[in-house]
Amino acid sequence: MSQFRYVKNKLYVEGLSASYIIKNNKTPFYLYSQRQIENNFQNFKKNFKSINPLICFATKANTNHFVLKLLGNLGAGADVVSGGELLKSIKSGIKPNKIVFSGVGKTADEIQLAIKKNILLINIESESEARLINQIAKKLNKNVSVGFRINPNVDAKTHKKISTGKAENKFGISIKEFLNIYKNKAAFNNLKIDALSVHIGSQILSDIPYQKTLNILTSIILKNNINLKYVDLGGGFGINYQNNQKEINLSRYSKLVKNFQKKINCKIIFEPGRFILGNAGVLVNKVQYIKKGTKKTFVILDAGMNDFMRPALYDAYHDIIPLIKNNKKHSGLIEFVGPICETTCKFNQFKNFQKIAEGDYMAIKDVGAYGSSLSSNYNTKPLIAEIIVKNKTYKVIRKKQDLLKLIKA
Ligand SMILES: *Cc1c(COP(=O)(O)O)cnc(C)c1O
Repeated sequence: MSQFRYVKNKLYVEGLSASYIIKNNKTPFYLYSQRQIENNFQNFKKNFKSINPLICFATKANTNHFVLKLLGNLGAGADVVSGGELLKSIKSGIKPNKIVFSGVGKTADEIQLAIKKNILLINIESESEARLINQIAKKLNKNVSVGFRINPNVDAKTHKKISTGKAENKFGISIKEFLNIYKNKAAFNNLKIDALSVHIGSQILSDIPYQKTLNILTSIILKNNINLKYVDLGGGFGINYQNNQKEINLSRYSKLVKNFQKKINCKIIFEPGRFILGNAGVLVNKVQYIKKGTKKTFVILDAGMNDFMRPALYDAYHDIIPLIKNNKKHSGLIEFVGPICETTCKFNQFKNFQKIAEGDYMAIKDVGAYGSSLSSNYNTKPLIAEIIVKNKTYKVIRKKQDLLKLIKA
């Protein structure tokens, strides 16, 4: 059940109305439900219970300290893609032996940091990276646990800008190149090849691409007699942004993974991001102005693409709902836009939306993942606040950035 719902025409988050929170907090701000995050994590875990995986939350989906702590306390590890995310995860209490480090462009400094912190795995994405890690490990006199991120050349059937597992994408290493390195592994004597990893894309709604990937991994591992401690199957689990979408069927995928695990006999790692946070946050904002265009009415919000980038970046669909429902209809097309000086600073458009007035409050839905973490200071706007609700209380978990500090740099 969603923790965001209407009670007598008022939008509630758990046991608090959003209208109550705006009394003391200026819009725009991110508003999360703690129970929703907890439920999503437990639901994910339950679906894969028979596999007993390590669940490494993909921190780039939401890097708020409070959120990372919460997930760490529930038993999550972290999948990080930068030195900053690595340090932040550790600072949030996530143990280094539950952290995996992915990314195509890790710098020498980041690699050194990861080695010194003794994290679980560095997932390598090229032969050059393998050489650099080996060289740094040698200098530090360490043997480093690594995985190789395979590019299985599988089409995840998702938006082209969030596909990562096709041969034309920059991510991962081809099977042929990996096998070359594997045959030559004596040349990398400070690396322990403990894992293979894959991450084929994001917002994946069907288990077919996952199934194809499992088949490819099975054949590489068995044909070449590769002994592994871990197989890291990545993230990408899709959620329901639009009513006609269906979120991924995890229990079906879980059976496929169980089968795979029986053949390969190793610990499974998952890296969910969106699935844990996506539907756990809304972006609360105010209608600043209403402007009649010739073809549609523009509803200009106080939140912009700097606060929430997904529609501009990926044409992402996000529903927009009022904090207080009324029974009147707006005639014609309305488009919700933000203040930023870019044509793509717009969020969605609707026919038959309810009647809106300047000063009304709206919520952009399902922005918990890749919302605040993708926000920026574009147009010299401060990063906005983040607030979380638990039962009938709320807590500010990131203050709005100070404008006077912002304008100094
Ligand atoms: C972004 C990312 C994830 C998380 O993807 P979701 O679609 O949010 O589950 C997992 N693994 C890697 C390597 C990533 O880059």
